[in-house]
Amino acid sequence: MEVVLDRPGAVRLELLPPLALYVHIPWCVRKCPYCDFNSHERPGALPEREYVERLIEDLDERLPCVWGRRLVSVFIGGGTPSLFSPDSIDALLSAVRARLPLEPGAEVTLEANPGTVEAGRFRGFRQAGVNRISIGVQSFDERMLGALGRIHSGLEARRAIEAAAAAFDNVNLDLMYGLPGQDAAMARADLETALAFGVPHVSAYQLTLEPNTVFWSRPPALPEHDLCADMQLAAEELLGAAGYQHYETSAFAKPGRRCRHNLNYWEFGDYLGIGAGAHGKLSFPDRVTRHERAKQPAEYLKSLSGKETEVPPRELPFEFMLNALRLVEGFDVALFGERTGLPLSAVEKQLSEAEGRGLIERDWKRIRPTARGRLFLNELLALFLAAENKDRG
Ligand code: SF4
Repeated sequence: MEVVLDRPGAVRLELLPPLALYVHIPWCVRKCPYCDFNSHERPGALPEREYVERLIEDLDERLPCVWGRRLVSVFIGGGTPSLFSPDSIDALLSAVRARLPLEPGAEVTLEANPGTVEAGRFRGFRQAGVNRISIGVQSFDERMLGALGRIHSGLEARRAIEAAAAAFDNVNLDLMYGLPGQDAAMARADLETALAFGVPHVSAYQLTLEPNTVFWSRPPALPEHDLCADMQLAAEELLGAAGYQHYETSAFAKPGRRCRHNLNYWEFGDYLGIGAGAHGKLSFPDRVTRHERAKQPAEYLKSLSGKETEVPPRELPFEFMLNALRLVEGFDVALFGERTGLPLSAVEKQLSEAEGRGLIERDWKRIRPTARGRLFLNELLALFLAAENKDRG
């Protein structure tokens, strides 16, 4: 199948997408054996001031690409951003606000790990302008936390959630399932404990083995595929019964509490990425570009080298689908053209094929993955990837 472009190479964006900002803080107390994020152990004090200064220079360098635009959200991720002091986060957010206006009510998230935060620190982040906290709990079970190499205990996780909930009404808990030695009852117990806090957002991820991790070179025994699928279904049922809407593969939210920053990724919005190894995507009337910085913190602190590339138009349909088909409710048909600058007819053959295989359903307004499509998301996406490769050949 071939992606059909009216004028190959020509992208015409009538509107620029919403713009978000991602800030990467690349350090952790200890590297977890399953983690393939750009996170680094660093003994001794972190170069907080130096790093924040570099982040601001990084932002300054990107500003000409986004003049006149407003930020819909900011996400400070990592790594473990909660290792930075509230003063550093305040300096960072003040500099952001001085350079790029935030939409009224913009979501400003900071990732925090139990074991690195207490009540005063959460209040400090709140005063700095953070209005949403995402806590990397993963599990409350000591055996699971030990198997994952986490630095916190179940009790510390509970205390961190209580302290966060006292300072913030918008809190996400990250949980993992399919852990070494975990059975269905243990996975359920983790979810029930999380639900007892009544937080508005829960993300439940299946543990996967990723290249360049300790678990990849020395894999632990993980639960069978069918058991993991049962855990996922049980999570969907439990969270659904507790009033959470399942809106993306791993994301569940109370009404009105979906993560706006992540939704912007899934709706193929724009985002500036600043920080070591941070990626970004920006749209212009005639092209879509990607940018990234040097991955190693020491290199990033030395220079703002990196690269910027234009996304070839033939790759845009796959990139759009890779994000939008993760959404349980799919996407508005108009969004494809708005975000890629290509007509939907460019992927009509792929959409028909996906519909024929029962992977998507569509009407005049929306295109959404079916339950089967969500279960076999890679098969569904492969249709668009094949299209891209064929077009290239
Ligand atoms: S705390 Fe998070 S970012 Fe840091 S190593 Fe562990 S999983 Fe990776």
